[in-house]
Amino acid sequence: MQAPRTSYDVVIVGGAVIGSATAYFLALDPDFTGSVLVIEKDWSYARSATALSSSSIRHQFSNPINVKISQFGTDFIRRFRENVAVDGDVPEIGFHENGYLFLAGDERGAGVLRANHETQVACGAEVSLLAPEALARRFPWLNTDGLTLGSTGERGEGWFDSSALLQGFRRKARALGVDYIEDEVVAVGRAGDRIVSVTTKGGQTIACDVLVNASGTNGRHVARMAGLDIPVEPRRRSLFVVDCRTPLEGPVGLTIDPSGVFFRPEGRFYLMGTAPRHDPAVDPDDFAVMHDEFEEEIWPALAHRVPAFEAIKVVNAWAGHYDYCTLDHNVILGPHGVVKNFLFANGFSGHGLQQSPAMGRGLAELIVHGGFRTLDLSSFGHERVVAGRPFLEQAVI
Ligand SMILES: Cc1cc2nc3c(=O)[nH]c(=O)nc-3n(C[C@H](O)[C@H](O)[C@H](O)COP(=O)(O)OP(=O)(O)OC[C@H]3O[C@@H](n4cnc5c(N)ncnc54)[C@H](O)[C@@H]3O)c2cc1C
Repeated sequence: MQAPRTSYDVVIVGGAVIGSATAYFLALDPDFTGSVLVIEKDWSYARSATALSSSSIRHQFSNPINVKISQFGTDFIRRFRENVAVDGDVPEIGFHENGYLFLAGDERGAGVLRANHETQVACGAEVSLLAPEALARRFPWLNTDGLTLGSTGERGEGWFDSSALLQGFRRKARALGVDYIEDEVVAVGRAGDRIVSVTTKGGQTIACDVLVNASGTNGRHVARMAGLDIPVEPRRRSLFVVDCRTPLEGPVGLTIDPSGVFFRPEGRFYLMGTAPRHDPAVDPDDFAVMHDEFEEEIWPALAHRVPAFEAIKVVNAWAGHYDYCTLDHNVILGPHGVVKNFLFANGFSGHGLQQSPAMGRGLAELIVHGGFRTLDLSSFGHERVVAGRPFLEQAVI
């Protein structure tokens, strides 16, 4: 497929949720008069993290900026219709507003929940701490043995349709004049300290003033095309959908056991997963589901925590990849220190979907205005990678 032109102000490599959010916010900015091309190698998005995600959003982070990023994410989802409608048409986002439930199993864990709670409340998040007796009253399906504290979201958290979010950004961006082509970037042209072009598998060379690397788990590979490097690698995560003979009575949010195993409702089923104990970098083409993980870790932990889960049957399962930042599980956002027109948006690990509205807006602000205008996202900059200085976030799933 031919790009409509051979030169663009901004070329975005990867057109899933982050690339499309960036294109959307660029196109919306009245101060931006340039041209944007999104190059996406697979318009089915079948292997993107965006499509394979558990698609949930929470305000329960330990770092204030992460709380604010997700609060903007919730606002964006709540106003999805007015934000992305094209000729009155809008994909169904299916937001199920339902708080996360973080559980602590010892005094240390309870201390972390209390400290995080203070931060979250100071940011205006609607969250509650619940002692074991209160947990038992509110969540009758929960076995509170061994629990010391719980923290739940009262408003603004939940889950939604990740493909609708992506398609909403993409359709609106295209309606506002952004070009998309289905092709793969295979080379990046660099002249000294500047990126000058990209070359695609289809044989086109397209000049650009700014390149945004939104290529997910391929982010390190694309950076290396420009002679740059980032500590980001694909890490496999398996998700299991189960049928439970006895549906849980009462409210059920995305529940995280002290073991790290989590679940949430998915229609009349339940979606389950965990962070693997053995978590190496994997081949980006390896989508094999880790069934042992369900038998050995997920099911035993959840059958203990939720007695009704003694009788469950797996009805579906898939694996996807985090674009995992080995420095600190957080995104690297913004320009390379030397090659300043190469912008990273890589390493989101497990929370890029909910962060896409704020991160797309932030990248657009950097490109158009040369700095952040709304949320100050500078703590995610590439400088911290160069300095080896991790961005600290306690609440990582
Ligand atoms: C199992 C799982 C559960 C998750 N759960 C959550 C959750 O509950 N909440 C949350 O907020 N986040 C969650 N995440 C993380 C979230 O899904 C990701 O952080 C987010 O989708 C990343 O979006 P992206 O656009 O950066 O990357 P991707 O969605 O991976 O998209 C990258 C795109 O770049 C394209 N591409 C790659 N290389 C090239 C190239 N050379 N040329 C052209 N195109 C290229 C790919 O085809 C792909 O479409 C989860 C992730 C997984 C895997």
